[in-house]
Amino acid sequence: MRTHLVAGNWKMHTHPNEGLDLVHEILGGLGEAKAEVWVFPPATHLSLLAEPLAQSPVKLGAQNAAAAAQGAYTGELSVSMLKACGAQGLLVGHSERRQLFGETGKVLNQKLERCLEQALTPFLCVGETLAERESGNHMEVVRNQIEEAIEGFELHALDALVIAYEPVWAIGTGQTASPFQAQEMHAFIRRVWAKKFGESSAEHLRILYGGSVKPENAAELFGQTDIDGGLIGGASLKAADFLRIVHAKPQV
Ligand code: PEP
Repeated sequence: MRTHLVAGNWKMHTHPNEGLDLVHEILGGLGEAKAEVWVFPPATHLSLLAEPLAQSPVKLGAQNAAAAAQGAYTGELSVSMLKACGAQGLLVGHSERRQLFGETGKVLNQKLERCLEQALTPFLCVGETLAERESGNHMEVVRNQIEEAIEGFELHALDALVIAYEPVWAIGTGQTASPFQAQEMHAFIRRVWAKKFGESSAEHLRILYGGSVKPENAAELFGQTDIDGGLIGGASLKAADFLRIVHAKPQV
């Protein structure tokens, strides 16, 4: 049985005090949430948010980290620094990092390694562009992204890994993948995993959908057999919307 998971990626939004307000609003409306809930604020907020979140079931993650463990990398933040500030998880390979900052599979593989060294939960983001989908290559692209990122790791090291399928054409565009498109890719990802690590491991792997999830479409997406929750961008910045997604009952 896979625990349903809803995570909010705040991207480069909110100042620390606004982040604190948002966290208090989320905690105030969480109630008996069945989902495991994570927030990924900007790194500047981690220390401030770690305290209220430590008394709560909501987990805290960072959006990015350096590929190196330490050294002369001006402006970079290491996984261990983020952990010391309260991060329990890390987004690895968000499409904005891949597209805007040129992060390659090799770099993401190193980031994943840093993450595993520090026992942070990695959220590996994968997804195709519109051109890749239109050319019929979308499954191949996603398979390659997964294989490059996890190359060289044994299954036991990847135990906690979460995969987020986020089609690039659906991120921040208001254009959500249909439940059919999302389910098709999630089932494919699970088959890729099963082929590499066996059926039982694939059954345990949590695969989130991300890309314009809103309170209005969450229940239907979450009702798909292989969708285990969502990674939410824009809608995670409004506590009321995020909470409606957290509480959305998968519609089967
Ligand atoms: C994201 O950035 O991970 C994301 C899914 O964004 P949005 O929900 O805004 O499409």
